Amino acid sequence: MGRGLGGEMAAEVCLHQKQNVSIPSCGAPAARPATLQGLPVAAGLGVGDTFLFPGLSFQLSGAAPRLADSRSEKARLVEAEAAIAPEVAAGESPDASGGMTAMLADPLFRGSIIDRIEAGMTAADAVVQTTHDLIAIYADLADPVLRQRAEWAEAVGRRLFRWLHGLATPVFGPGTRRVLVTDEMSPFEATRLSPAHVAGIVAERGGATSHFAIIAKQMGIPVVGGIAGALRAIRSGERCICDGLNGLVYLEPDPDTWVAAGTRLAEMDRERADLAALGGLPATTRDGRRTDLWGNIAGLADVQPVLDAGGTGVGMFRTEFVFTGDEAPSEERQAALYGEVLRRVPGPVVMRTLEAGGDKAIPYLAGEREDNPNLGWQGLRMCLDLEPLFLTQLRAMIRASAEGELWIMFPLVSARWELQRCRELVARANTEVVRDGGRPGNYRVGIMVEVPAAALLADEYLRDLDFAVIGTNDLTQFTLAADRMNPRVARWYDPYHPGVVRLMAMTARAARRAGKPIGVAGDLASDPAFVPVLVGLGFTFLSATAPRLGAVRRALGATDSRQARELARTVLSLTDGDQIRTLLHGSGRPG
Ligand code: PEP
Ligand code: MG
Repeated sequence: MGRGLGGEMAAEVCLHQKQNVSIPSCGAPAARPATLQGLPVAAGLGVGDTFLFPGLSFQLSGAAPRLADSRSEKARLVEAEAAIAPEVAAGESPDASGGMTAMLADPLFRGSIIDRIEAGMTAADAVVQTTHDLIAIYADLADPVLRQRAEWAEAVGRRLFRWLHGLATPVFGPGTRRVLVTDEMSPFEATRLSPAHVAGIVAERGGATSHFAIIAKQMGIPVVGGIAGALRAIRSGERCICDGLNGLVYLEPDPDTWVAAGTRLAEMDRERADLAALGGLPATTRDGRRTDLWGNIAGLADVQPVLDAGGTGVGMFRTEFVFTGDEAPSEERQAALYGEVLRRVPGPVVMRTLEAGGDKAIPYLAGEREDNPNLGWQGLRMCLDLEPLFLTQLRAMIRASAEGELWIMFPLVSARWELQRCRELVARANTEVVRDGGRPGNYRVGIMVEVPAAALLADEYLRDLDFAVIGTNDLTQFTLAADRMNPRVARWYDPYHPGVVRLMAMTARAARRAGKPIGVAGDLASDPAFVPVLVGLGFTFLSATAPRLGAVRRALGATDSRQARELARTVLSLTDGDQIRTLLHGSGRPG
């Protein structure tokens, strides 16, 4: 089984391994060594000891205060402090352990927690509330030393919180890398992971385009999803190889597999270096036709990797990641952040307005529980109902627009009236900025095409817009009625489905007729095999996460634009996703 980790051997290995897989339903861990088959969610190979990390959102329980027994809650807090103190002291760097140890004893931090417990809160709720308050106080300060206190407060608060819920947090010494085993992780939690310490993720749920997977891809962390019962089947501290390309998890692997993983990792390092060297090349096809290559980001930290990979713009800034925490960020804070992103990026920055809901639930924006959140009150719908919140974000963007090239983008548009309303609100936000003494904004306005209705009406919609971007992740989900989060319907979730590809083609044609830029920002834009089709369909920019930009650039450089048009025509004549896959990859989907 020594060659099982090579990409070219994937199909053979999957078939071979499937026969050996058994995840015990009784809760007894499988005998070792063992190989578990899941779904390939984020490609890559991670090697490290496992750490069981059940998901737990760092948020208030919603329990009414004054119900807790403050004496026992205080005792629990003291116990939690004593338990995490040695972990904190052994932190990943002297700076981190010093900062966190000081925070643990900080009179403001500790005092506020105790006050809240005495007022009747549970210790866990008191920790959450105090941590959020301290973040709000420190995160906006100009002094970097004080600002860092926000980070220490959060790190300590989260550790206390997990301990109070009976869960451990991994301790990462220098050079330690772990494979996290989880049931489900929120994308907001995922942004807190560090690829320096997280070698891979094994998840019970989550599909390839679930938002936590997207964040992991952005950070280059491999993920295997869809392993039901993983938290029961895997023990903490097992040696593990997480093969995100093939969806395989090797536990206590035999020496051959271990050596093969080392070889594959070295190959991947070489490949990464080769692709990084392409960063300076122009983004053109072999015959010199330009297609802009931009990056997807979730925050300021993602900008430099995009620029390093040769991205000349940001094709989608998922601004919802600015809205984590206990309350919405102020206009001031948003304007400063958006301005900084615009300043750093030499080309356009497509800022998508807040898209919360679904698997990106933000507690303070949560509405009533819905039976079908993916078809419910989320994204633009939420913003249109929460007008003050929406206007605050629009004003912040407009105030920042002097710093660069701002393109404002609305997600999940389905109806024409939404576009009109968005235009009115942008105009109103602009007027308010000017009224308050600011400069009028300089921006373009566009939409994401991710609901089939928007693709079908692209001709009409694009008349009033400056650009459009296809979100292939949602367009696939909504065209095929297959939840992008649910591993059980992964078979039905197929971005190569002709229904999806034809809707993309319709939109690209409409944009060409209107003479407007048209991009792709979903996962399909980072699929090198599909890049020639996108070129042939006439997309003018592609936006991918930084780690994928090199492979996309190489695919673009190998494409001849005339042949690409021919290829796109052939693809559009096919009637089945597997036919398209076979045409582009030489084989269909296994299983
Ligand atoms: C998409 O739907 O393809 C997209 C780019 O947006 P998100 O993945 O954030 O929903
Ligand atoms: Mg989307």
